[in-house]
Amino acid sequence: MKAEIIAVGTELLLGQIVNTNAAFLSQELAALGINVYHHVVVGDNAKRLEAVLEQAEKRSDLIILTGGLGPTKDDMTKQTVAAHLKKKLVIDQNALEKINVFHQASNRPMTENNRLQALVIEGSTVLANKTGLAAGMFLKKDTVNYLLLPGPPNELKPMFLNEAKPLLQKENPTESLMVSRVLRFYGIGESRLVTVLDDLIEEQTNPTLAPYAGDYEVTLRITANGDSQSCCKLLLDNLEEKIQLRVGEYFYGYGDTTRLAEVVVDLLKERTITITAAESLTGGGFQSMLASIPGASDIFNGGFVAYQNEIKEQLLGVSAKTLNEKGAVSKECAIEMAEGVQKLMKTKMALSFTGVAGPAMLENQPVGTVWIALAQENQPTIAICHHFARDRNGNREQAILAGFDFIRR
Ligand code: ATP
Ligand code: MG
Repeated sequence: MKAEIIAVGTELLLGQIVNTNAAFLSQELAALGINVYHHVVVGDNAKRLEAVLEQAEKRSDLIILTGGLGPTKDDMTKQTVAAHLKKKLVIDQNALEKINVFHQASNRPMTENNRLQALVIEGSTVLANKTGLAAGMFLKKDTVNYLLLPGPPNELKPMFLNEAKPLLQKENPTESLMVSRVLRFYGIGESRLVTVLDDLIEEQTNPTLAPYAGDYEVTLRITANGDSQSCCKLLLDNLEEKIQLRVGEYFYGYGDTTRLAEVVVDLLKERTITITAAESLTGGGFQSMLASIPGASDIFNGGFVAYQNEIKEQLLGVSAKTLNEKGAVSKECAIEMAEGVQKLMKTKMALSFTGVAGPAMLENQPVGTVWIALAQENQPTIAICHHFARDRNGNREQAILAGFDFIRR
């Protein structure tokens, strides 16, 4: 199967957003054994999109379009594809129902524009959107397959993985079975990971091994070919064992979308450990991420943002002596913050964050210096110092993830 990815959006042409959808899809298609020969980017313009479609049909038998499925005027992907294929747009009842429910639940009036999102190309297989409203579509005309996916990556990725991938596997059956496993790492950069696994990457044939650098973390997709599930599993188990021996300390979980915070929340739930936090430079970011994980309420009932020293002193009971002699960016302050908030919130575990986000130095400490302390019931409080070399918000984000990692270890 020869595939082509057409990303629709003037924002892409203007360089306002980067075409990460094409990168994601290409990696996924490669794992499915589907060759991608062309990436095309076209603006929100029906005429030019039509021209691009004509060109694509001559050279590709799978055409994937991303973006332009929304309800606004500039979104015209499905309209253009439908007109081009001489097919009608029809209302999909499931999609309409979902849009209705969304508007009722959020108490917003539904406009005619919103109804547009329930329109799909006649005869297509409708792909459910679990994280948004625009339905995706898969259809075939003559020998060409068309796959229409929404632009926002948080909608495109789950739709591709859960809905489109099985359909493509059916369209493009490989002789043997292909099974993938995604390993996720935190605390090791891509270049270091690749260096440590250099020989395994060099000699890879089956399974194959592909690292991807994400924001602050690295994932490794290993893919095996074989006659049966059990044969693929065995191949993957063998390779994973070698990988874990070398970089296991950085490994935190499996899967395409699993987040470090999720793994930590599961761990705390499993051990029935309640948690709180006192945050300075992260400004509540740790607690916000914690609360973004479903089920967080089982283990999290509240915490503090203590930005100014007076608050650290008055609310959390950090001693004036510590603040004067050691400063707010110190091991001692981090420990007293964690112990203070643990006492106030009566939790089994408490975390604290204090540091220099930047842009300027603080207390003569360089930007990126962050102390994180972890207080635990019946255990001495421990603290760790990080030196992140990012900008203000990069340092804050890093600190939050390092906090989750500290708990996991
Ligand atoms: P919406 O319903 O949100 O309008 P849509 O399917 O119409 O979705 P677009 O309007 O084309 O999609 O894009 C919406 C947003 O999705 C963009 O602002 C951008 O953030 C993201 N996006 C679109 N295309 C891409 C792409 N190729 N790579 C990465 N992100 C993208
Ligand atoms: Mg749009």
